[in-house]
Amino acid sequence: MNRDNGFESQRASMVDYQLRARGIESPLVLDAMGRVAREHFVPKRMRECAYDDGPLPIGAGQTISQPYIVALMTEALDLEGGEKVLDIGTGSGYAAAVLGCIAGAVFSIERIRELADRAAGVLAAEGFDNVEVLCGDGTMGWPEHQPYDGIIVAAGAPAVPDSLKHQLAIGGHLVIPVGSEYSVQSLIRVTRLAEDEFRTEDLGSVRFVPLLGEQGWS
Ligand code: SAH
Repeated sequence: MNRDNGFESQRASMVDYQLRARGIESPLVLDAMGRVAREHFVPKRMRECAYDDGPLPIGAGQTISQPYIVALMTEALDLEGGEKVLDIGTGSGYAAAVLGCIAGAVFSIERIRELADRAAGVLAAEGFDNVEVLCGDGTMGWPEHQPYDGIIVAAGAPAVPDSLKHQLAIGGHLVIPVGSEYSVQSLIRVTRLAEDEFRTEDLGSVRFVPLLGEQGWS
């Protein structure tokens, strides 16, 4: 048997059947997701399920998102390569790694220390030296490195946090699940058109764990 337990062919099938077949078209996103070893970002006992078509538990009551959702959100950022991106809700670090394949620099924030530390370790081991992980409240963004060409939030917010909108570069996109309910949200894309001008689009229904924090749920 192949040394990697067939993970490479499972990854290629995931890209074909879960992403391309459902309309993901960006060559950058398809290439990145064909390269990141998702099996290294899930808990060891879940490794055989790494390429399943759904989210998986990663500990501390949190989940690694379904591959299709990671692809959809990343594609919505409309990156061309080399940009500066902010990732809120590091979780396993998988989405940060996918972004790290495309962007020039990724700044990722996770509020749970145990997950932030584990993700930082995996990202370093996988060679992602352009991804930095911070433990803290991501609803306030990471002002030090703004403006961001893209901001992606992997947890559902009651409303779009103003602090994140204002850390976008002109022309940049913020992709975030928003909903008045705790468990079902609309995936929203906010584009900063000018200093004080924003456009909002609804990309469809999604389900995420809640975004907890100052500009999230309490
Ligand atoms: N992108 C992740 C998905 C993680 S799930 C992956 O690829 O695995 C969402 C994560 O958001 C959880 O780990 C949760 O702890 C975190 N989170 C929730 N509220 C947050 C906040 N205010 N700041 C930073 N992280 C937050």
